[in-house]
Amino acid sequence: MRKNIVAGNWKMNTTVPEGVQLAKEVCQAVSAVESLKCDVIVGVPFTHLTAVREVIDINKVGLAAQNCADHTSGAYTGEVSAPMVASTGANYVILGHSERRGYYHETAQILKEKVDLALQSGLKIIFCCGESLEERENGTFKDVIEAEIRDSLFHLTTEQFQNIVIAYEPIWAIGTGKTATSDQAQEIHALIRSLVADKFGAQVADDTTILYGGSCKPSNAPELFAKPDIDGGLIGGASLKAADFMGIVTAF
Ligand code: PEP
Repeated sequence: MRKNIVAGNWKMNTTVPEGVQLAKEVCQAVSAVESLKCDVIVGVPFTHLTAVREVIDINKVGLAAQNCADHTSGAYTGEVSAPMVASTGANYVILGHSERRGYYHETAQILKEKVDLALQSGLKIIFCCGESLEERENGTFKDVIEAEIRDSLFHLTTEQFQNIVIAYEPIWAIGTGKTATSDQAQEIHALIRSLVADKFGAQVADDTTILYGGSCKPSNAPELFAKPDIDGGLIGGASLKAADFMGIVTAF
């Protein structure tokens, strides 16, 4: 049985003290829920990982970095490697976010290398994919999503792939207030699951958690999460307030 997951992506927000406070609030709120129907993860800036790890119960709230380097160590000023992330006690890394693909020119090949290094370090990966508005409107969106997944993930073994969570995040819905309709999201989630089934088999596809991301909030999460192939959310803006985030966590 696949897991439901709600993961926060704080992006470049909060100072370390603010982030520690937010993580504490999330962990306390998660601990207070009687029968939690999903795993909860917070995706924090690199600078926050160690401090946040100290205030959360990792069995209740997973900890994700939002990126890692495509090298393990050495002369790469300003970079943070997968082994460094793992050494903080984080257990996940978000890779392939559209902001990283767009602003920092991360290609499928670079992401493939990051995926390999993250898995070698024992991290699980939340791998993002999704189309731009132009790609949605010109009808190429399914090919774009297929290529993003195939070119960075389909070299993995079945065993390795079991450490991958996929997040479908239509770029036109991220931070815009425009959510994909639950039917639009379900269509793509079903497509992703069928691609995984073709490559890794029906059982692996059935066990793969596929998250929706893009202006997800407490008011629209129940309808999205009710769809058969939507197994939770990757949450940006609404993960910055514990109450909003918990409104999504408890939407199942
Ligand atoms: C994101 O960037 O991962 C995201 C889903 O952002 P938002 O929820 O703010 O649209």
